[in-house]
Amino acid sequence: MESKQKQSKSKEPNQVDEIVNVGLIGHIDHGKTTLLYALTGQWADKHSEELKRGITIKLGYANLTIRKCKVCKRLVLEKIHCNKETEVVKRLTFIDVPGHEMLMATMLSGAALMDAALLVIAANEPCPQPQTKEHLIALQVKGVKNIIIVQNKIDLVSKEEAIKNYYEIKEFVKGTVAENATIIPVSAQQGIGIDILLEELTKLKAPKRDINSNPIFLIARSFDVNKPGTPATQLTGTVLGGVLLRGKLRVGDEIEIKPGIKVEKKQTKWIPLKTKIAKLVVLDQAKQEVTPCGSMAIATSLDPSIGQADKLAGNVAGLINKLPEPSYELKIKFNLFKEVFGTKKAKQIEPLKVNEALLLSINTSTTLGIVKQLIKDEAIINLKIPVIAFKGSRVGIARNLEGHWRLIGWGEII
Ligand code: GDP
Ligand code: MG
Repeated sequence: MESKQKQSKSKEPNQVDEIVNVGLIGHIDHGKTTLLYALTGQWADKHSEELKRGITIKLGYANLTIRKCKVCKRLVLEKIHCNKETEVVKRLTFIDVPGHEMLMATMLSGAALMDAALLVIAANEPCPQPQTKEHLIALQVKGVKNIIIVQNKIDLVSKEEAIKNYYEIKEFVKGTVAENATIIPVSAQQGIGIDILLEELTKLKAPKRDINSNPIFLIARSFDVNKPGTPATQLTGTVLGGVLLRGKLRVGDEIEIKPGIKVEKKQTKWIPLKTKIAKLVVLDQAKQEVTPCGSMAIATSLDPSIGQADKLAGNVAGLINKLPEPSYELKIKFNLFKEVFGTKKAKQIEPLKVNEALLLSINTSTTLGIVKQLIKDEAIINLKIPVIAFKGSRVGIARNLEGHWRLIGWGEII
């Protein structure tokens, strides 16, 4: 009865479970962060080193509410248009990922959270560039199928060059998850084509959400949000940023963060953290209760220093005693690609070997693993850092090739 009421409620367009979490992916400098600014008016690179170097290092976030003017029928972002209040047609949260090849693990953590993705491809370079390929494969690995291709920087090319690039893109996506994706030419910097992209974004559908299982919150970032000098009595506890995969969370819920923090005494151990939800924030609004709905933030009662500088990223939060125990070993069924995607030159992928080191990405966590046993397409891998594993979760597998971690395949936890 209760779930029936909830289902009928969720049909309204403004409900939080209709929010779609959209990732920005693509090669470095193709304009992901600029596009996000053109759409939302927010710069996702807030971290000081990112501003200095002009690249995205961590996962960035921004929100967007698309509205429709009741008078001129145009899609707008303002609350008032043509002197009338506008209606909300779509709410989205965005994740901006780094395009740099060294930051593939961060990209994969981000891909674990995406309901949909904008694949940004610069029109003034041959397509595909190495990370254009690698990011698209990462979407395939993580099972993200809702894709819009944004052909950016059209202000830098002639009409003929833009058309030639369009056909290169078409050829590149043939046979991939993005084969039928719409391609929208834009200039993020000049604001050209953004209205057409908004139109396309309104068509994105949120996946079916499971609100009745025990909650699983994947932590992608963690922060100390206090300004220096805040009196101790007014400090906000550690804030967790991430995505609620399933279930419900409420203010006041006692939660557990696992595997937690590393302690080194006689031996290295991970100790889970217990805390209470002080505040829940979705699209800059405080909520008493949340269900799965794109990116959100949870303020906890943990000392703010515990979560500083993403220290808790990669952990999972849930109700106390409702999360699985940390796994120090994983059993996966794996598939390897034929060749490596992230390099300029194609390179064959050798089979996995016992005792070799791999970098695994599981939900938002990344851990080094040593292959212990191989039987056909199944592997048992010992992990350096334990993870909270769920059966059926997708695992990205990377191998170190000439000093770079390259995505070589994917697996499923069995
Ligand atoms: P990211 O690495 O994909 O996030 O790329 P950025 O958004 O940081 O953009 C890289 C550079 O390209 C910056 O100097 C931007 O100003 C520039 N840029 C982004 N979009 C456009 C565009 O549409 N036209 C032109 N001319 N430059 C752009
Ligand atoms: Mg960027």
